[in-house]
Amino acid sequence: MGRGKILDINCKCGYKLFRYYKLGKGKIIKCFVDRIEEDFVGLQGLDTYAKPLCPECKKELGIILMIRGAPALKLNQGTIQSVRI
Ligand SMILES: [Zn+2]
Repeated sequence: MGRGKILDINCKCGYKLFRYYKLGKGKIIKCFVDRIEEDFVGLQGLDTYAKPLCPECKKELGIILMIRGAPALKLNQGTIQSVRI
């Protein structure tokens, strides 16, 4: 790893959700849970198909899916502030 970047992921309401180690470029579609550096939501340890909520505005952030054997949060693009790198 060396091409990655730490990004703040925020809810549209302004709440800081987590910090994510993003590899490569492009829009963030999903976030692997084991690459989340600081977790203000409690994503770590959630079950597959869990739908975590923003602690502030209670909107759904997305859904936890298993992607290539690792848990990842597939983001609800309507809830997350878009981040481009
Ligand atoms: Zn929110």
